Amino acid sequence: MLNFAYKNPTEILFGEKQINEARSRIPNNAKVLFLYGGGSIKKNGIYDDVINLLDGFEVTEFSGVEANPSYETLIKAVELAKQESIGFILAVGGGSVVDGGKFIAAAVNYDGDPWEILAKGGEVKSALPLGCVLTLPATGSESNGNSVVTRKSTQQKLPFTSPLVQPLFAVLDPVYTYSLPEKQISNGVVDAFVHVIEQYLTYPVNAPLQDRFAEGILQTLVEQGPKALANPQDYDTRANIMWSATMALNGLIGQGVPQDWSTHMIGHELTAIYHLDHAQTLAVVLPSLMYVQRDKKAEKLKQLGQRVFAINESDDAVQIDKTIQAVQNFFEQMKVKTRLADYDLTESAITQVVTNLEKNGMTQLGEHQDIDLTKVTAILKLAL
Ligand code: NAP
Ligand code: FE
Repeated sequence: MLNFAYKNPTEILFGEKQINEARSRIPNNAKVLFLYGGGSIKKNGIYDDVINLLDGFEVTEFSGVEANPSYETLIKAVELAKQESIGFILAVGGGSVVDGGKFIAAAVNYDGDPWEILAKGGEVKSALPLGCVLTLPATGSESNGNSVVTRKSTQQKLPFTSPLVQPLFAVLDPVYTYSLPEKQISNGVVDAFVHVIEQYLTYPVNAPLQDRFAEGILQTLVEQGPKALANPQDYDTRANIMWSATMALNGLIGQGVPQDWSTHMIGHELTAIYHLDHAQTLAVVLPSLMYVQRDKKAEKLKQLGQRVFAINESDDAVQIDKTIQAVQNFFEQMKVKTRLADYDLTESAITQVVTNLEKNGMTQLGEHQDIDLTKVTAILKLAL
């Protein structure tokens, strides 16, 4: 196991009506920026619950944070937050709104052009405090310090990480996820699944507890994901998926182990250029990436097959083939398509993705940093 320092300061308020516990967590007398997306919260009642929660606070609303939040929109919220002397951000929505809130929190106090935070690793020295009410279990953003922002004008989708933007609290009410369209349930389960894979499917470092945490989350998603599609109003199914998605990317399972993240980085380009949903890009990239990296990932691929999909072949090559197929089948079972052609993308898309990766300096990806642009091309060709 590798060395690590780990702290997760986000307080999780989990369960039905737990929003009622959030009030005391918001700093007294803070002017609150209530941030949300395209309006789903006005149809499902969450907006009213938040207005109740914020009763007595001075509140400024900012809506219209898009899926894959754009720099162009967020920078308007940054200006508003400065004008209104905002002291606390409450992000209400899915990963996009939470990620957007984090960028605003960092950009408000940034000395210089806030784009540098994303494009040049500009150091975040201070940030506004934020909390969130999560409406879509997927990203783990509610309990980590990561954020991904897209600059539409340049087709760049870039991440940044800072412990200063980690939410102080996250309200996780499974009932808030009942109104999700089926596609978003599917996307969420696939995204969480791939988050675990990026921290698990590397090479063994004698970290059996980390392996079993990861496998437990994967097994739960494989078991509960299809149930959520079949019976969308089942509280316990929703609750277990929600908790799995948080645990997948709250830092715990990634401690002491190598991490990959190449599927995400390649996928981000597919979203930036062709606007595929985040999870769709992951479902396209991962199976082919596992295939191309099968020798370097052999031990963990075999273990994934045995422990998560109950595949027990004596021939290693067959074991690995069947494991990759099982992952792809799971994505398809979750109704997320796994080929570029399913999204009307052809070979020309590969050139575009590679060009963008190069522009963004993403030329040495993966746990061995051996996924260069030639390998990316091979991976995407397999995914055609
Ligand atoms: P999302 O983009 O936040 O939301 C997708 C759609 O679902 C939106 O149209 C949203 O509508 C709708 N929606 C959300 N909750 C709903 C509900 N309860 N009922 C009905 N509709 C609802 O989806 P996401 O998958 O959570 O976030 C994706 C983003 O997170 C991507 O940009 C991805 O790159 C990023 N990401 C971040 C991390 C991280 O660690 N920070 C990790 C992985 C991915 P409204 O706009 O109306 O709310
Ligand atoms: Fe993700």
